[in-house]
Amino acid sequence: MLCSRIRTALSARLDGEALPAGVTARRLDDHLAGCRDCRRWDARARALTVVLGDATAPPQVAADADPAAVEALLDRLRPGRRAG
Ligand SMILES: [Zn+2]
Repeated sequence: MLCSRIRTALSARLDGEALPAGVTARRLDDHLAGCRDCRRWDARARALTVVLGDATAPPQVAADADPAAVEALLDRLRPGRRAG
């Protein structure tokens, strides 16, 4: 399956929406197991979901997110703070 389709489905899953036709959670997990790029994409999407504070997201999304990625995003979003 194309990575672009996988990522569309991952985004829907993160948002609590129905998966696109023809995509199952099993296929998503199978693809993630074999595709490093999509795993990284998924980690970033989860981190963004946490940062944006989606009230509809279940708490386990935050627990699953890569703490380092979340910290980096928060750093960049913090007002008045500059890198370097
Ligand atoms: Zn992929």
